This record gives sequence, structure tokens and C-alpha cells, in this order.
Amino acid sequence: MAVLVTGGAGYIGSHTVAALLERGEEIVVVDNMQQGHPQAVLGGKLYEGDLRDEAFLNQVFEENEIDAVIHFAANSLVGESMQQPGKYYHNNVYGTLCLLEQMNKHGVRRIVFSSTAATYGEPEQVPIREEDRTLPTNAYGETKLAMEKMMRWFDVAHGIKFVSLRYFNAAGAHAGGRIGEDHRPETHLIPIVLQAALGQRPHISLFGDDYDTPDGSCVRDYIHVSDLADAHVLAVQRLRGGADSAVYNLGNGRGFSVKEVVELAREVTGCEIPVRVEARRAGDPAVLVAASERARSELGWQPARAGLREIIASAWAWHQARPHGYEDERV
Ligand code: UDP
Repeated sequence: MAVLVTGGAGYIGSHTVAALLERGEEIVVVDNMQQGHPQAVLGGKLYEGDLRDEAFLNQVFEENEIDAVIHFAANSLVGESMQQPGKYYHNNVYGTLCLLEQMNKHGVRRIVFSSTAATYGEPEQVPIREEDRTLPTNAYGETKLAMEKMMRWFDVAHGIKFVSLRYFNAAGAHAGGRIGEDHRPETHLIPIVLQAALGQRPHISLFGDDYDTPDGSCVRDYIHVSDLADAHVLAVQRLRGGADSAVYNLGNGRGFSVKEVVELAREVTGCEIPVRVEARRAGDPAVLVAASERARSELGWQPARAGLREIIASAWAWHQARPHGYEDERV
């Protein structure tokens, strides 16, 4: 039986494919290559196409013995989602509906879902627990919450069991050095900071230093992408074992401010990394830190690369080896 990984050529998807390969799983990847890189898929069968293309997706299910799906394929930029919410509803929400319809049609009853801390919005308390209020402050988070709710009703009606993994801030790169983070355009803090260290940017823009946090910059919980990948493998195993649907936070439970991230990156890289303070970015909550006890106790998940210095160092190794990301493979 194979695991279908949608968005498997993207950043977290490709690291999850690597983790599945390491465990000997058979893998089918579907990616529309809007953000994905074919070179990032280290194994399995790769289909290029879109979840919203019914004939295409039907063929993928017809041609393979799929018993579980891991669903990453989505747009995921907070800032962009505030400018173009329609793009997010169409690709994320409608794309998930198409996927669930095909799963139901083909009798596939397990899905692991790539969700986000953005489903919570501004937290009522920190660290955030899974049962806390979900009131997204941006369209991206709203679409991910809508996707979670859709899965719940497909469970009620059709018995499709889901595990929703709400990640905090993914960062870092695979230890093997062949895959890492390469978004076009790049908007995430750690790769931007490292691009500044490489001299590819004159400075980083710090989006707001007047938040209600100890140093005024936003606080986030950074988690190594390979630790996230491991959680997906555990979630598939749990669903195969007959577990009921569930939601889990994935984070290290420790927050770092944007200023602290920059300072640690300066130490790791030995580079200056100039900072320019700019206006707040629309949709950003001040503090997002996870309580992940449920994932630890129920999934048996244990982040193995928890320190922010280690996370930044692994990203730095990737950026130094491939300053232009996957493009460096073509030359
Ligand atoms: N951030 C920043 N400058 C940048 C990119 C991000 O100050 O060039 C801040 C952003 O406002 C947020 C934090 O860094 O508070 C993490 O942002 P990122 O986009 O990496 O992840 P998100 O929290 O949006 O998922």
C-alpha cells in the first residue's frame, strides 16, 4: 500500500517524503509545481498536476493502491492571503474538497493534514493548547481552519479519519544536505536572515518592534522541519492502527523573538546581518508558542532537533551549499 503525499515537492512535503522513504514506505507524490521543486522529491512516484483537476486526481487514485494521504498542497503565506484571499479559498479549501471527494470515491479512509498555528489567531493564553479558541487573524489561517472542519464532517458522514497537525514555525534543512527551504519569493524569517548573511539582501526588514512582547518584536516557536516530518509518519501509523481523528500542535514550546532569531543567526554565521525596523505585517499575532504534550503522549513524538541554534545551523548549511536553492542543481 502507498502513501499519497500532496504537495510532496514543497518544503515540508519533501522532508516528509524523505522521512517516509527512510522507513521503507511506498510513496506517490502529487504536486502542481507552483511552489514545489521536482528535484526535492527524493523517491517515490511523482505526478505533476493539480488537486482541482478531477480527471487527473481520479487517475492517480486509479493507478495506485493508496491507503493513506498526507495533505500539504496549499498556499501558505500570511501576507499574500491578506491581499488575495480568493486564491487561498480556491486552492486550499476547494482543493481539499476535491481531494476528500476522491478519497471517499476510492475508499481511502486516512488523511494526515498539514495545519497551522494560524488557526488560533491571537491566543488567549500561551502556550497554546489544542482545545483553545480558534479565531484566525488572517485569511490563510481561516482557510486551514475551514479545511479542518471539512475533514471533520467527512469523518462523520464517511468515516474518513484525520490527524490535523498544527505546526508552529518550520525551519531548518535535512541532514543529508540534498533538500532544504527554497520558496520563490521567500517570505519566511530564517531563510531571509540567512540570505542577508550571504549578502543576497542588504538587510532584513523587521516587521514591527512595538508588539506587547519583551523586546517588542513578534515571538514564534521554531521547529525543525525533520521533526515535523517525523510527526507525519507517526500520524500515518496511528491512523493505520485504527485511532480516531485528532488534532495535535507541533512545536518546541519555547518562543524566540525576531530580534533573538537575528542575534542567534549572527552567532551561527559570523555575519553582521543588518536590520531595518519597518511597519507591522498585516495578520501577524504577537506571540505563538505551542503546548505539544498531546502529540508527545498520543503520537509518541519527540522532537530530536529542538534547539534554535541547531535549527539555524542546519538551514545555514543548506544555504551555504546552495545559495540559489534548487537552481544550483541545474548548473
Ligand atoms: N518577519 C520579519 N521579517 C521578515 C519575515 C518575517 O520580521 O522578513 C517576522 C514576521 O512578522 C513574524 C516572524 O518573523 O513575526 C515569523 O514570520 P514567518 O513569515 O517566518 O512565519 P509565520 O509566523 O508568518 O508563519
